[in-house]
Amino acid sequence: SSTGRTAIIAGNWKMNYGPREAAKFVQEIQPALSEALQAPGSPLCILCPPAISLAAVRAVLDIPDAASSAQIELGAQNMYFEEKGAFTGEISPNMVHELCTTVILGHSERRTYFGETDELVNKKTLAALRHELRPIVCIGENEQQHESGETAHIITTQVRASLANLTSEQAREIVIAYEPIWAIGTGKAATGEIANNVIRQIRQEYQAIYGAEAASVVRILYGGSVTSDNIAEFMAYPDIDGALVGGASLKPDFINIVRNSR
Ligand code: PGA
Repeated sequence: SSTGRTAIIAGNWKMNYGPREAAKFVQEIQPALSEALQAPGSPLCILCPPAISLAAVRAVLDIPDAASSAQIELGAQNMYFEEKGAFTGEISPNMVHELCTTVILGHSERRTYFGETDELVNKKTLAALRHELRPIVCIGENEQQHESGETAHIITTQVRASLANLTSEQAREIVIAYEPIWAIGTGKAATGEIANNVIRQIRQEYQAIYGAEAASVVRILYGGSVTSDNIAEFMAYPDIDGALVGGASLKPDFINIVRNSR
């Protein structure tokens, strides 16, 4: 793009598709998805199945030793920040790194249902970077905050706390996803204009902390009821570098989101 930032379309499958269904779905979409990704100006595509399905998806994609093929990468939806030990039910950054290039962190569902704080998200972000994983750090205001005009304040707080203590190198590598909670899974996507305004604000906030260079290369995605019908509207705005797609990533129409993103 004119910004020099390669777009990212990531599919967050959430708690859908165990190993069998995941393999079947990826078998179904892979040929057309790979073909769509051949076109010039194509985004980087990252599939984020449940952790237990990552190996099955990777086997179908036939990804060799390195964690990525050029076309489709894999991401986890969450992880813990410790490397190993007595943390029942958790997966570690090095475990994720065996199968993935990327990890989604601080999704609003993690924050709301599992009590994740900015402080925890920050620890996970730093752990991901130490293990050469690309974090997609999610931030966003809820409906009440949106309606009472607190969005800018919430965004500032989340950026400063969730993304604290990065080196200037790390500040270039992370990906931020702006996901207004009122738009997630509701079918009520933000408009391109609203999303771009908040994302521009996020970039300005980021610039205040990490400088103009980091702010010009960091990729900031929009998430919340993205579909193949509205993706082009978001991508038309200069500050929006792609999308984190939930519900619509579970169907073959995800391929059209990739197609319509360029
Ligand atoms: P949605 O979810 O596309 O189903 O709204 C987006 C997300 O939660 O990442």
